[in-house]
Amino acid sequence: MKKNNKTKQLALQRVCDLLDNALHTPDYFTIEHIDTAKKIITKYRLKMPFEYKMLFCKNCKRFIVPGKDSRIRIGKSRVKALRITCKICGHTYRKIIKTKYGV
Ligand SMILES: [Zn+2]
Repeated sequence: MKKNNKTKQLALQRVCDLLDNALHTPDYFTIEHIDTAKKIITKYRLKMPFEYKMLFCKNCKRFIVPGKDSRIRIGKSRVKALRITCKICGHTYRKIIKTKYGV
């Protein structure tokens, strides 16, 4: 069981590295990186941190680069929320955020 956890941790680290790379490398490599990352996530059933989860559209499951393939807005209502709009399929995903300095 402990061993399994360590494997998961390593797998998660690998996925994060891949996604970081994907954000900073030309398109050709991005697809390969994303495919590998997706395979690892499914294989180990990883729970991705939000920063990485928001890189995938909830609707079309594609990799979306913030500012390029997706639009991120902060909601103006009382509840602080991020609105991530996928430019590929138009799906908007809302994520409630609590600020550290939340007043
Ligand atoms: Zn989408």
